[in-house]
Formats: sequence, structure tokens, C-alpha cells
Amino acid sequence: MPSVSPSIVPEAAADASTDPELNPWESAAHRFDEAAEILQLEDGMRKVLRQPAMELTVHIPVVLDDGRIEVFTGYRVQHSIARGPAKGGIRFARDVSLDEVRALAAWMTWKCAVVNIPFGGGKGGIICEPELLSESELERITRRYTAEIGEFIGPERDVPAPDVNTNEQTMAWIMDTYSMHQRHTVTAVVTGKPLELGGSLGRPEATGRGCMIVTKEALKRFGLSPENTRVAIQGFGNVGGKAARLMSRAGFKIVAIAEYDGAVYNRHGLDIAKLAEHRHETGSIRQFSEAEDIDKAEILSIDCDVLIPAAHENVITSGNAGQIKAKILCEGANGPTTFQADSILAEKKIFVIPDILANAGGVTVSYFEWVQDRQGYFWNEKLVNERLEEIMVSSFESVTGYAEKHSVNNRTAAYILALDRVALAIRRRGLYA
Ligand code: GLU
Repeated sequence: MPSVSPSIVPEAAADASTDPELNPWESAAHRFDEAAEILQLEDGMRKVLRQPAMELTVHIPVVLDDGRIEVFTGYRVQHSIARGPAKGGIRFARDVSLDEVRALAAWMTWKCAVVNIPFGGGKGGIICEPELLSESELERITRRYTAEIGEFIGPERDVPAPDVNTNEQTMAWIMDTYSMHQRHTVTAVVTGKPLELGGSLGRPEATGRGCMIVTKEALKRFGLSPENTRVAIQGFGNVGGKAARLMSRAGFKIVAIAEYDGAVYNRHGLDIAKLAEHRHETGSIRQFSEAEDIDKAEILSIDCDVLIPAAHENVITSGNAGQIKAKILCEGANGPTTFQADSILAEKKIFVIPDILANAGGVTVSYFEWVQDRQGYFWNEKLVNERLEEIMVSSFESVTGYAEKHSVNNRTAAYILALDRVALAIRRRGLYA
């Protein structure tokens, strides 16, 4: 085979991770099996729901700024469309793999069912290093990816949204590309768009706000109020950054924040607005004058009441779960805890607000965005936030109610609730043959 020039395209990550604990698809499958067993879900239904309904792999040729052609690999997986169109984000990262996208797609199915919105679950990803690509290269990758998956997405089919390293600009490019192919503007094909293109008020903060709402519900069980609650957050972006800002405004004491390049700590509470300004000016949260620098790994074992992992998967493992001191774990990221760590958290009696509930605020407001786009009638921010609160609180109650009823932990309860709802939809529809 002729050799090719050095590439900026990362090697595709091996699907079967050498350490099965770190393979998100394994974690997703374990949790599915556990919940299916408790529900005594019939065999055929297990087979239907255990696998994604559709998996698409595309190899996307793109002209780089220097004129070279590169080929990037992308995926779109639809885990289930039983309750409505597939719904879920698209991420750009070097370690994207098909197994990861599969797990994330399945989690979207369960998440949408937990908050009872009429969507199935999907997810997409492109293997790339966004920090090495220019804005125009990212635009060409996004547009060509959209064209490749174009016939599988749409307001009634599959509705993408932002995820790791994608944002409202990415969504605007997808919306425009899709609309050019349809020959008319179709705003409801994606959510998380800019406001001027049919985005929803409240969407950027929705995931962080949802984390705050469920944390407040959990606090009631511990007799704590925001003012005497110390919070540590891993991640200072879409989810962690927004949660930090909203929670500090609501009176919580945010004592530590970690990012990929370091972490900061102040036991009296960090001034989040100032920290954001510091990061904006220096490019890092480190060396903030009002805090001490700590090792980023320390965030998990720090003395606090609430820990919010809001960055990526597999950060809480069997190796470090024992060191967590928080009473409440609010999973802002998707899949931050491995299956093997669950029993350690249970032994330590940590109150876990599982990802498919804790971070469901984002997709809930995505649902509101999709509804508003389809109606062509837009809500004010107060209405968005009120409706979000209503859904998050009642979902929290449903999950904790299921936990009590079935004597299981909150994560298993959330899975049981979700599987039950999806299975009911499938039974009602029947199998088309
Ligand atoms: N990427 C977000 C999530 O994992 C949002 C998905 C959406 O709004 O469709 O929940």
C-alpha cells in the first residue's frame, strides 16, 4: 500500500478497550442487564433494547486549509426510536469510538424516558482534535458529516444537539446544510442552536440548571440548605461552568473546580464570576489569586458535600470511588461512573443522582426548543425555566420513588423506570413484520 503523508487525523480508538471497566458500552450493558433482570423483562424485549437500532459509520473527506485532503471518521447511532425521534448530541474528540457512541446513544434513550419526553435516543461523534483545526476546517467537517448522515436525520427522525467540543455554531452549520438539501429552512432538525436561528432561551444553562434543581431536591433529604453546602465540580464548560455559576448565585459554596489542566480550591468558596474572568484572561483556571492550586485528581477526594463530575466518562472507577467524601454525587457528565464503582458508592451510602436524571435538563430544554421551532411560537425564559423545574422535580420524585418501591439504588431505579416506559411503548406498537 502506498504511504500517505503524516496526518492530523487521530488513529481510531480501539473499540474493545483493553480495560473492560473503561469501555462505556460494557457499563451501559451491565446496567441494562441488571435493570432488565429486576423488571423481569421478557427475553425478546431484552434483545430488542440491548442493541442499537441503527449504526452508521461515515468516512468524511475534507480539504484542509493548506489544500491537503484528509479523511475523518464519524458515527451516528440511533439506539431507539420507539418513543419518538432519536435525540442526542454530536461530539468532536480524538477518543470517540463506536462503542462510546453506542453507549451514549443508549443513555439518551433512557434519559429521555426518565424525564418522559417523546424522544428515543441517538448520539454522534467525529474522531478529530478540534483544537488542531481552524474554524473553517471545523465548518467543512461539520457540513460534510451532515450531508453524509442527511437522510437519517430530521425533525421526525433524529435530532442532533451539542455535546463535547460542539456548540451552537456547530448546530447552525448543521441546520443550514440540512436546510440547503431540503430547499427550505428546517430549524427543528437540531437543538442547541443560536437564538436567532430558532434556539431556545435557557438552553445554554439548561444542563447546569437541571443539576442544581436535582441537587436541591437531594439536599432536603440531608437537612442541608445551599448556604451550608460545599460543592466540588469537575469541569468548567457547558455543564460544570454553568452549574457553578447558577449554584454560587443560589448561595452554594463552590469550594473547588477542576479542569483538564489543573484545579483550584478555596474552602470559603470561590468567586465564580471572577474565576471565569481569570480563565478568560489567562486561558486557565490555575493561579487564580483567590484560591490555591491543587492537583486536578484531588477533586474527587476533596472534603465537600456535593461532588459534580461534569466533564467526561469513566472518571469514578473501582480504583478511586473509595476516596470520595461527598454525601451527594450529582452526575453532570454522561457515564462518569463505571459499573464497577457503583457498589463502592452504595457501600459508602453516597446518594447518587445518576447521569440519566442529573444531566437531563439539557435534553429537556432541547425538547422545548424542538416544540417551539415546530410551532413557530417562542417562550420567554421564565416559562422555559419553570417547565424545566417542574420536569426535573417530578422526575427526581419518580426515580427516588422507584428506588424505594424496588429497594434499589437511584441509578438502578432510573434504569427500571426508563426501561419500563420504553418497553411499554414497544409492546403497544407491536412488532412490524
Ligand atoms: N448532549 C446532551 C446530552 O448528552 C444534550 C442532548 C440533546 O439535547 O439532545 O444530554
